[in-house]
Amino acid sequence: MNALLDELRQLIAVEGPIPLARYMGLCLGHPVHGYYTTRDPFGARGDFTTAPEISQMFGELVGLWAAEAWRLMGAPAQLRLVELGPGRGTLMADLLRAVRIVPGFAQALSVHLVETSPVLRARQQERLAGSVPVAFPVSWHERFADVPAGPAVVIANEFFDALPIAQFVRTDRGWHERLVGLDADGRLAFGLAPEPRAELPARGGPGDVLEWPAPAAELVTEIARRLAAEGGAALIVDYGYAGPAFGDTLQAVKNHAFVDPLAEPGEADLTAHVDFARLADAAGSAGAAAHGPVPQGDFLRALGIAARAAALQARASPAQAADIAGALERLTGSGPDQMGTLFKALALSHPHLTSLPGFPPHQS
Ligand code: SAH
Repeated sequence: MNALLDELRQLIAVEGPIPLARYMGLCLGHPVHGYYTTRDPFGARGDFTTAPEISQMFGELVGLWAAEAWRLMGAPAQLRLVELGPGRGTLMADLLRAVRIVPGFAQALSVHLVETSPVLRARQQERLAGSVPVAFPVSWHERFADVPAGPAVVIANEFFDALPIAQFVRTDRGWHERLVGLDADGRLAFGLAPEPRAELPARGGPGDVLEWPAPAAELVTEIARRLAAEGGAALIVDYGYAGPAFGDTLQAVKNHAFVDPLAEPGEADLTAHVDFARLADAAGSAGAAAHGPVPQGDFLRALGIAARAAALQARASPAQAADIAGALERLTGSGPDQMGTLFKALALSHPHLTSLPGFPPHQS
């Protein structure tokens, strides 16, 4: 019983095989059966755990980053603090608790949450009502473009990996778009568009996979134009790669394990690694400065995570202190199960902001 699978079968029967990006978009965001539309996927009993769910230190340090970016912007009297895909609202709750004492900053803030999932909007609302000691004006938006004008700080943690990608596979005739169709038994199966894309340069060799993150590049362009026009900065943290690369990074995760991306549409988290170089280029073309990417571990250390962990441990029980040490390792370590190297931070800003905390000075 998978209602989305039935709908996909009918769609493919009528229209023929669909591009991977459309499949990904429907699996994650279908208005009734989409993965994010129907559930809260986080935590030990969910499908995956994100940095703000590992430790309050993550949201607190991102808060200090946002406050420092605001100060470097010239401390505007009104600032739109925007978060894309806030999940359970944990990062924003920790951020707001940490910055409420920064003089002027708390008074300047209005909070704008860009979230399509009704289930997660409800979680965010509860979370912010329950754990933030100061009442900040909070509003929800379907899209970044709906956030009202004005200087902004934009935060996106593990958001860009959830945006659909296209894939192209190299054959001896060129690059063919990867499609999702049906096999002889009516099961979902990958296939290729019969004709290659003439506009893609014939680099690489047969079997190579090229990914194209069109929605992510468009969104970065929109954010960059806005920062360049109205002032501000954005922080994008995600797993991904920093240089140009070939390779298939599509993955499906359920119950903390990898599964076949076609097996249970809408029931597993589908993501792709973020192509940071491409996003930095898109931001540069749109008139913003790009900072980094830098490994998440370096970013958090530069913001003082070791001192923050020590301060929390000083008033913790031995068991809690061990948990804090574990979270610090997980967030900053460079092992394959740790986030310090695998995850990267990229900042975008108005071109006059040449230096942002946690990043080497911007070279234009
Ligand atoms: N930032 C959170 C959650 C990451 S999961 C954390 O670090 O824990 C991705 C989040 O983006 C979810 O809240 C999901 O509902 C939201 N989301 C996914 N696609 C979206 C889209 N196209 N527009 C807005 N929100 C989206």
